[in-house]
Amino acid sequence: MQSRARNRIVRRMKDAYSLILSAIDNGIYRPGDRLVESELAERFGVSRTPVREALQRLETQSMLKRDGRSLIVATLDHNQLAELYTVRAELEALAARLAARHATPEEIRVLAGMVDEDHKILGDPQALSRANRRFHHQIHLASHNRYLVQQLDLVHRSMALMARTTLAAKGRDTVTLDEHQEIVDAITLRDEARAEAALRRHISMAFETRLKEEARLTSESSPDA
Ligand SMILES: [Zn+2]
Repeated sequence: MQSRARNRIVRRMKDAYSLILSAIDNGIYRPGDRLVESELAERFGVSRTPVREALQRLETQSMLKRDGRSLIVATLDHNQLAELYTVRAELEALAARLAARHATPEEIRVLAGMVDEDHKILGDPQALSRANRRFHHQIHLASHNRYLVQQLDLVHRSMALMARTTLAAKGRDTVTLDEHQEIVDAITLRDEARAEAALRRHISMAFETRLKEEARLTSESSPDA
């Protein structure tokens, strides 16, 4: 009985944690937004204790930070952004290499199908951003390495701390799908080196786009400088 009650508490905590995390991931809460325990409890229909524990866990994971007495969704500074993209490029490139080696024919067909389907949502940055995440997650799974999948999940969790998607940048959506196509082609050919290089180039282009967007937004918000 006791352990069943304990399991129930652990499950509620996990629910509150994943609910808050996906709300950040989906942009319901954006970097800089304040998270209030009572509001979260009400929004998600859970009691305050699991919410409080979930918030503590997210703070430990640097997803939230203290601002006086309140907790806000963390933002990434320029250095963190560069550090994150460096790790992401290496891990994603490794995933692509392993996917070229280990993906099943079914997994490759799913990847190819995703790129085809995603052409239908060009012009919708939010939908493309979700599709992009699905595409990359599919490559992670096709690597057939659970430790790599775990590490990439951590990287993608921190990616949620970027306020906006680079897919909204002019022309980036079409180019992104071309790059995805190159990755799928290399995996289909079982060309490990080419898959790795294509994915590394893709992440590098995404990072470059982000830096340009950041620079553009900074100059817009301080017209005197
Ligand atoms: Zn992508």
